[in-house]
Amino acid sequence: GRVAPSPGTSYSFALKFASCTGVGKKWTRPTGYDTGLKTYNSLTKQKEPLVLAQEGIATWYSCGPTVYDHAHLGHACSYVRFDIIQRILSRVFGINVIHVMVITDIDDKIIRRALEKSISPTILARMYEEEFKNDMLALKVLPPAVYLRVTENIPQIVAFIEGIIRNEHAYATKQGDVYFDIGSIGDRYGKLMGAGDAAGEPGDTEKRDSRDFALWKASKPQEPSWESPWGKGRPGWHIECSTIASSVFGSQLDIHSGGVDLAFPHHENEIAQCEAYHQCGQWGNYFLHSGHLHLKGSAEKMSKSLNNYITIKVNAGTSYQESHMHSQFIETLLPFSFLMTALSGWYIHGHILHKVGHLFMFNCRRSG
Ligand SMILES: [Zn+2]
Repeated sequence: GRVAPSPGTSYSFALKFASCTGVGKKWTRPTGYDTGLKTYNSLTKQKEPLVLAQEGIATWYSCGPTVYDHAHLGHACSYVRFDIIQRILSRVFGINVIHVMVITDIDDKIIRRALEKSISPTILARMYEEEFKNDMLALKVLPPAVYLRVTENIPQIVAFIEGIIRNEHAYATKQGDVYFDIGSIGDRYGKLMGAGDAAGEPGDTEKRDSRDFALWKASKPQEPSWESPWGKGRPGWHIECSTIASSVFGSQLDIHSGGVDLAFPHHENEIAQCEAYHQCGQWGNYFLHSGHLHLKGSAEKMSKSLNNYITIKVNAGTSYQESHMHSQFIETLLPFSFLMTALSGWYIHGHILHKVGHLFMFNCRRSG
């Protein structure tokens, strides 16, 4: 494999990370330290022995929130579940889990919301990032070893994109966008979720293939932007994760986690980018996906777009949020009086979220 990218990175762990291995599309069982545990791996759609590259250490990357709005209980469900798995690995099996999470603090939704509210995207993002961290604390989710922000890793992202272009897996357009060239990796695209519908991202006629996705987007006037060899712009969504995971862990990763809704295209594209950059066949060894949260009796997942969500707000000082949350709970959960009784009991005592993890154990289920 190639040398890991670390242009200007100030964070580093005093560890030697393994190199990305594997050839072709098929999953190869990693070599290294067999934990004796098994985990469901989305890459193979079955349980596999959990083999870590190094004894006693699990390198773990997770996609964090896009901080443009309140996190809801569906998000909480995902973070609580992975927290439980990490605690089991570390406390029961003595594995040192090195968990890195990225905060997406620049993207279309953030820019749009900031415009609506007439505040800067940075202020909006910091506000919801702070709230997210507080929510996680309230949920007793252990924080990652490090939170990293996209906007503080732009030079690394630019260097990563340059590397992919150098390896002839990406191309720049006259408009100043850069796209990943899916055709250049042949049938290796789709190793996680299949090649998907060939729709891809809308728009640019300069794309070689409709499935090609943006690594770098030329900025429109008024949008936040950074200098790059392709002109002013900002990173595409997927590239941040590939870059930051590689900056910290090098060309190989033990475990990657996220919500199941991120599997395609986000994780699929992360894999394509990393393997194109590192010139290897298996960057991430295990992909763990958390299912959607379903309210009891509902076939629908909890989501912002379905408007059936409950936020995590628990800050006792903010009466508006509290009453807001209370009314949301009442509206949503009244049909299930037994649940309501339990919930309101916890709620009145002000520590619903100490117990909510237990609730999730029964209410989270795999889907998709
Ligand atoms: Zn990601």
